[in-house]
Amino acid sequence: MSSAFKISVTKMDFGVSEELTSKVYDTVIIGGGPAGMSAAIYAARYGLSTIIITEEIGGQVAKSGWVENYLGYTRIMGPDLVNKFEEHVKYYNVPIIIDSVENVERDGDLFKVYTLNGDEYTARTVIIAVGEKKRKLNVPGEDTYNGRGVSYCAPCDAPLFKGKVVAVVGGGDSAASAALLLTEYATKVYIIHRRNQLRAQKYYQDLLLKNPKIEIIWNTVVKELQGDKLLRKAILQRVDTKEVFELPLDGLFVEIGAEPPVELFKRIGLALSQDGYIKVNHLMETSIPGIYAAGDCVDLTPRDFRQIVVAAGQGALAAYSAYNYIIRKYGFNRR
Ligand code: NAP
Repeated sequence: MSSAFKISVTKMDFGVSEELTSKVYDTVIIGGGPAGMSAAIYAARYGLSTIIITEEIGGQVAKSGWVENYLGYTRIMGPDLVNKFEEHVKYYNVPIIIDSVENVERDGDLFKVYTLNGDEYTARTVIIAVGEKKRKLNVPGEDTYNGRGVSYCAPCDAPLFKGKVVAVVGGGDSAASAALLLTEYATKVYIIHRRNQLRAQKYYQDLLLKNPKIEIIWNTVVKELQGDKLLRKAILQRVDTKEVFELPLDGLFVEIGAEPPVELFKRIGLALSQDGYIKVNHLMETSIPGIYAAGDCVDLTPRDFRQIVVAAGQGALAAYSAYNYIIRKYGFNRR
């Protein structure tokens, strides 16, 4: 089984030392997924003083099942890959702060990065790699049974459903990957999808269709979740016939995609695409000089190609651009 629960970092989830907040960083990286961690490794190797501020370690990868397309690993669980990333970042002594960034403001030539915990960091450049937040179903019962049958993280919770009946909602790669992982534990795995065609890669579709434990419930949406102390059933509705029916369940995994934190981007004043992603050029430069962005939160990444390798590559490029900005502006003797 994966080491999903072993993630450990130089993290400070309460009270950050003054030493960390009083410095002027060459770059503050917001986000601790593959884009942010890759940016940190490149920035540190460029000799930039670097810090990562992130709500969680690993982003979507930490919630992913088997990863089979990241260079160097034939097959590795998402959380295990995150542990590898983190080990790599730690090697370069980049601190990782667990906190949520509320705003970034220009302060003369520098930037101030404000967090939910009330801390303030000063930076010459900022790299935004916050990814996206998982969508919720927004149906009655979802919050009540969150952690009591409803889950948003298959690798974290799949082992809890050994011998049980579960469902995954969604038709993309995340739903497919979660469903396949769940077949290693559950006796039956339903996929509830609102259309009659999956969005997931063909590779996944083939695996789903030949797995005897998986049954796809097409053209159907979740209307409500019900149970006692634990989730017991989902109330479903067919999109075409409007027929309402019950599905007895022990677990329901919500995998219906994710959205970028648009409000944060607006507060910072970044130029955004119509659907709320940060506009960047090929060097990951945003509309604000000195602020770079990378990974799932940028408009450059195709919506249907959110790959770890793409995020990691963009993170490296963002660090490269931050380095060039700093050298151009401050030269080599800025400390
Ligand atoms: P996604 O591709 O956006 O798919 C979301 C799925 O959820 C779609 O099938 C969508 O239905 C459905 N959906 C959306 N909102 C819904 C709602 N309110 N109610 C019911 N169903 C809803 O998201 P994802 O699967 O999380 O993938 C995100 C990105 O990560 C993609 O680029 C994907 O390729 C990548 N990813 C890659 C891998 C891998 O390569 N191993 C693994 C995981 C994710 P419709 O189809 O009708 O729109």
